[in-house]
Amino acid sequence: MSHQISVMVHTPAHSGIGGALTYESGTAHTAGTLVRVPLGSRELLGVVWGGAAPHADSGETAPMQLRAIASVLEGLTPLNAHWRQLVQFAASYYQRSAGEVALAALPSQLRDLSAEQWARRLKRKPKVVAAYEGTTQTIPTPTEEQAQVLADIATHKGPFLLFGNTGSGKTEVYLRAAQAVLEHNPQAQILVMVPEINLTPQLEERFRARFCPQWGADCLVSMHSSLTPAQRLKNWLAAHSGEARIVLGTRMAVFASMPHLQLIVVDEEHDPSYKQQEGARYSARDLAIYRGQLEGAKVILGSATPSLESWHHSRPVTTSEPAGRYMRLAMPSRVGQGALPLVRRVDMNRQPYKTVFSNHLLDAMRERVTRGEQILVLLNRRGYAPVLNCNDCGWKSECPHCSAFRVFHKLDRTLRCHHCGFTQPVPRACPSCGNLDISPLGRGTEQLEEHLAELLADVRRPDGEPIRIARIDADSTRLKGELERQLAEVHAGAVDVLVGTQMIAKGHDFRRVTLVAALNTDGALFSSDFRAPERLFSLLMQAAGRAGRDATMNLVSPCEMWVQSHHPQHPLFEALKQHDYPAFAEQQLKEREQATLPPFSFQALVRAEARSQEAAQGFLNAAREAGAALADELMVDLYPAVPMTIQRVANIERAQMLIECTSRKALQHFLAHWQADLHALRNAHRQVIRWAVDVDPLAI
Ligand code: ADP
Ligand code: ZN
Ligand code: ZN
Repeated sequence: MSHQISVMVHTPAHSGIGGALTYESGTAHTAGTLVRVPLGSRELLGVVWGGAAPHADSGETAPMQLRAIASVLEGLTPLNAHWRQLVQFAASYYQRSAGEVALAALPSQLRDLSAEQWARRLKRKPKVVAAYEGTTQTIPTPTEEQAQVLADIATHKGPFLLFGNTGSGKTEVYLRAAQAVLEHNPQAQILVMVPEINLTPQLEERFRARFCPQWGADCLVSMHSSLTPAQRLKNWLAAHSGEARIVLGTRMAVFASMPHLQLIVVDEEHDPSYKQQEGARYSARDLAIYRGQLEGAKVILGSATPSLESWHHSRPVTTSEPAGRYMRLAMPSRVGQGALPLVRRVDMNRQPYKTVFSNHLLDAMRERVTRGEQILVLLNRRGYAPVLNCNDCGWKSECPHCSAFRVFHKLDRTLRCHHCGFTQPVPRACPSCGNLDISPLGRGTEQLEEHLAELLADVRRPDGEPIRIARIDADSTRLKGELERQLAEVHAGAVDVLVGTQMIAKGHDFRRVTLVAALNTDGALFSSDFRAPERLFSLLMQAAGRAGRDATMNLVSPCEMWVQSHHPQHPLFEALKQHDYPAFAEQQLKEREQATLPPFSFQALVRAEARSQEAAQGFLNAAREAGAALADELMVDLYPAVPMTIQRVANIERAQMLIECTSRKALQHFLAHWQADLHALRNAHRQVIRWAVDVDPLAI
């Protein structure tokens, strides 16, 4: 008897095949089994999906010629139903094919190893459980707030939003909650997600030190994009077999196969890096909530500045509204009663023209360095200057391939486009008029570092040595291991002033930082992106949270966060001064409600790329017309196509179209039906290079 087996394979996203393909096999295969199947002249990895329908070949009608499954990856437990349902849900919610999502979630070596290589890989003897050789830590007694939160987590179903101040001990709560789950059930597995693992090497060490002494060195594996393919396969297998009790990973880890998943932690849940920006544009945070519900696992989202969506979903009951679906747990105090920094606003309107650092700020920095304290200077723009400008003819360092300026990098004397990567040596004279007087406009971290070195050249550390200034941004940390090395220097006290982009604001447990200064933040106050203030506020709160983390430091004067702005009275800075996230959130949510923006409505974007803006917009507007009737019926708003903010990148014109609806269900219904129109129209609009739907987009 032969069986018809449906198999998910990764077909190109817009090939129209989309779903599963049917193959023939002499034996029935359980759903979730990994197989290799022929497609055209290639052989692909696939996942058996759905049931295997046996069919007796009567020989009367010639059945469609089905090709046979080539081989089965022996020795692997099939991927379970929960995992397949998670994939299916993500694919349909984010408008991609399930095959694409499924195969992208599996380690690439499963695909790349030949049958013989796989057999050899399987034979590799599992080594004896290694003893953990790191240092063990003393486990602190929970604070009252931590104890309360842990009791709530133990007794309620969740999902939980842990709204805990920076330094309130959220990580300690994750560790304890995990401990409780591990002890309660000898099989239970835990998934801990973090935005970017490289930024917080400390965190992995904390988890290892806590769990490895008891459960062995192999109880924890990590999952992120900087693992080698072999490491990734090894860690994936450990999670899939249930051996690894804890998976610590970035957004991709939300798809880890974990048969006994009982707890999911999403640390810094507001972080935009939880949203995948290509392929299936999923939100790992939102999928974590879905997965928790699917598998009966508890979910803890943690942040000092939750996303406004999560804040809204965890709202308490009011007279006009029912309570949200999440349970909000608060930890307002810092461990050890350390104070949050005093926020000082500098009115830049009262400073001399072109002031970079106000004199008061410089004095404060000098004093602190002299006393052996550390300082962070935050400027969210890398390079030396964002534009190079000819003072005679007005030439600017535009990128010839993008609608953007190339950034001046002084260290290697290049003009670099941060969008397409186009790089050239800095011209000696103006390429347009030959004038020698070309100069940088604006300021990036490179320039700030150079400038500070001049301004603070005479400052001495307590040991009499000259001041040490360092910079951390995407440029200074390009080489593997550089970021870890530079962070270690800061932790060791070898750096007095650290200049950097948002990379220095996130998550680090710097012990000696007592002053944080933020420069040039005003752009976000008036951005066309309605999420810009939310991002700025969270960045500033996170940055402020790096100061004063060691309550036992004997400070001459309290920790400070300085903000230089032309709009110091802006409500955002008022809320920052009070460290009052709830006030900020309330004001923002009120505005969003009035404008019917998320979380009071749901959005999707369709983006199209073509050689010309007309072609890109033409496709989108045709799609708009095709969907108009259904959109009307479902009360979905389709906006006209517009160029994207950066309209041209690498000579490709980009356009987008916004879709909005107050009902998530109606929006989903619309998108599912509209897909067919988009696929069909794409064939008629040959000039369109690619198009994609982004559901719940983060940037508009
Ligand atoms: P968060 O994740 O909220 O920023 P952490 O969990 O990193 O906070 O805690 C901040 C600091 O306080 C860490 O150095 C941590 O070791 C310490 N800490 C946390 N909980 C306790 C506790 N109950 N007793 C003593 N120290 C604690
Ligand atoms: Zn010129
Ligand atoms: Zn470019």
